[in-house]
Amino acid sequence: MMKDQRYYKAYLEHRTISRRGLLRGIFKGAGSVPPADQAINSLCVATVIRPPGAVSEALFNKTCTGCADCISACPEGVIVLKEQRPELDFLSSYCSRCDACIQACSVGALQKSEFQINARPALNNPCQNTYMYCDSCADRCQKKAIRWQSNTPPVIQNADCDGCGECAFVCPVNALEMSVTLAPAT
Ligand code: SF4
Ligand code: SF4
Ligand code: SF4
Repeated sequence: MMKDQRYYKAYLEHRTISRRGLLRGIFKGAGSVPPADQAINSLCVATVIRPPGAVSEALFNKTCTGCADCISACPEGVIVLKEQRPELDFLSSYCSRCDACIQACSVGALQKSEFQINARPALNNPCQNTYMYCDSCADRCQKKAIRWQSNTPPVIQNADCDGCGECAFVCPVNALEMSVTLAPAT
């Protein structure tokens, strides 16, 4: 699937989930956030991969100044600035969970308590393990989020994954690709 198509699909999924969240919020009538703001917050979802610990997309866009301190702090070089906001670019690196970006963010747009990355790996090309032994992704996953069996592609357990991207980085045949998904903090 083309990258644009994936983003669009992810965007639509976000809209579906967010609407459910919006209805839940309205029916509960809980919290001090006015319904109009709840609606705006619920419909404003990340369509790009944010650095770890990013607060909800609406708040992130209000809070982040685009100062690029997180980018300077990242030892892996996985954060890039696009449209004056930081995004993760997993094409040549991954997140080693060092927290440096979170520490560097002086305005609270990145929060340690929210450490998650709004991306998950998906098989986008043939897995080498179907014709030649390979367990690199499962071996490197620190979250044990990859279920591996011989002679078949790995199964990603999204609930255990935090979106670090290491599996995609180490895959020798680029079978895995990180795609944006519902931001855990939205
Ligand atoms: S946690 Fe560390 S490696 Fe991961 S994006 Fe932040 S600075 Fe980079
Ligand atoms: S993205 Fe990271 S945590 Fe998720 S499956 Fe891959 S290696 Fe494991
Ligand atoms: S690292 Fe890549 S080729 Fe190897 S098992 Fe994982 S997805 Fe398949």
